[in-house]
Amino acid sequence: MTSLQSNIAAAETYLEHWRDCGVQNHIAGQTVPASGGETFENTTPVDMSRLCDVARGTVADINAAAQAAAHGFTIWRDVSGKDRRDILHAIADGIEDRAEEIALLESLDTGQAIRFMSKAAIRGAENFRFYADKAIEARDGKSIHAPGQMNVTSRFPLGPVGVITPWNTPFMLSTWKIAPALAAGCTVVHKPAELSPITAKILVEIAEQAGLPTGVWNTVNGFGEEVGKALCEHPLIRAIAFVGESATGSAIMAQGAATLKRLHLELGGKNPVIVFEDADLDRAAEAAIFMIYSLNGERCTSSSRLLVQASIYDELTARIAKKAAAIKVGHPLDPNTVIGPLISQGHQAKVMSFFDTARAEGATIATGGERVGQTGCYVAPTLFTGAKNDMAIARQEIFGPVLTAIPFADEADALRMANDTDYGLAAYLWTNDLTRALRMTERLETGMIWVNSENKRHLPTPFGGVKASGIGRDGGDWSFDFYMETRNVSFATTAGKIPQLGG
Ligand code: NAD
Repeated sequence: MTSLQSNIAAAETYLEHWRDCGVQNHIAGQTVPASGGETFENTTPVDMSRLCDVARGTVADINAAAQAAAHGFTIWRDVSGKDRRDILHAIADGIEDRAEEIALLESLDTGQAIRFMSKAAIRGAENFRFYADKAIEARDGKSIHAPGQMNVTSRFPLGPVGVITPWNTPFMLSTWKIAPALAAGCTVVHKPAELSPITAKILVEIAEQAGLPTGVWNTVNGFGEEVGKALCEHPLIRAIAFVGESATGSAIMAQGAATLKRLHLELGGKNPVIVFEDADLDRAAEAAIFMIYSLNGERCTSSSRLLVQASIYDELTARIAKKAAAIKVGHPLDPNTVIGPLISQGHQAKVMSFFDTARAEGATIATGGERVGQTGCYVAPTLFTGAKNDMAIARQEIFGPVLTAIPFADEADALRMANDTDYGLAAYLWTNDLTRALRMTERLETGMIWVNSENKRHLPTPFGGVKASGIGRDGGDWSFDFYMETRNVSFATTAGKIPQLGG
């Protein structure tokens, strides 16, 4: 990927197929149009031009996919751990073989810069390899002894599950949710985000070419309120793994209630990065910049609230403003671009509405706060200073390259503000005082905390949030806890006396 021109030329070659054929559904091993014959247009946020048409799935399509997944389960659950491992590794090989195509198409579909998307396919392959190697141990359990009794636990796969994914880094997130489901022995109906559906179709094709039996993985495109809802309500689907907005998570809970769905919800965040005056300020500044301005700020773990000790507030925010102003905004296929266009015009308008909110609330726009160019969904990297934690710019998830900086007086003040939020996904803590780090990490109300680093994902560790940021964890063995049931078998080891009732 050498230049913008060569990347555009390569992307055009890959796009030809999608322009001609559109993104269809994938059910029981077949590429099929929506049963109602309807499609909707998929555009690129670069200039809103058409990329391809997408099948507008229906309730009947979800039903067909759920039936296929139920049939597929009768085969896949009995495939040995070793064979599941080999197929998942073959899927990872297939992803690596098509890494360039995946990266270029994902960039055009989502607006994410190619410098980040070129790694997305590799991360996706890593997810498959990690769970490939865990497939063999997925069913293992414990033995628990009691007087006169030996208990043996084992896990077995839930059955067909639904996976519903958002438009931000859709390829990587799909692999993250689907790889452990397959490793566990579950079958899948995947509902990708309507705004970025292309790479999900590539993924299911790679999986079947790698030897995954047909029907084990089905993909139905369409709108959340139509096919997403139908998937949550379907009686054959045993669980829903969802990544998206907190409000959608609530809707999914209600939709799944009648069929008692098991739910895993990975939702929004307003994650604090807390910088104390004793921290390594160079590294803290670089990490804060990376965590809000990479991936267009459209990432759930973005460090969108910067809480800075008052004594270093002006210095640190000035430094961040200067660096943010120098970040290159541009075409996502330009290797030099850091921030590409946001996902859609609607989302661009939402992000830009916070520029007016910031002014109205009395914050200062230290840099950015404007649209970039006249075509496409570009906005400038933005820093709000002089903010307070009760302002909307500090409370709502903006989900763009927009950072809100708030001063704090002392440790108690920092902790209070960090926890004074509806969300609780991640926190980033910068201090060289070990005992303070221990105190703070015990009291921060988030599912994940990084101390003196940016978000560095290690696949065996648990990932997930508290409060409005979600329910459940994945990563490592936690994903198997979600996709599997645990059974206990109790063996009597002595011929104990049975309580006798009646005559
Ligand atoms: P969204 O909630 O609008 O949509 C996500 C998916 O849900 C889409 O596929 C959509 O079609 C579907 N959907 C919508 N309504 C539905 C319904 N009623 N029933 C079933 N499915 C429905 O989210 P988005 O705007 O696509 O994604 C951005 C959000 O995702 C942000 O809030 C972000 O923080 C969150 N996110 C969280 C994590 C995490 O790990 N916590 C990771 C990535 C993104």
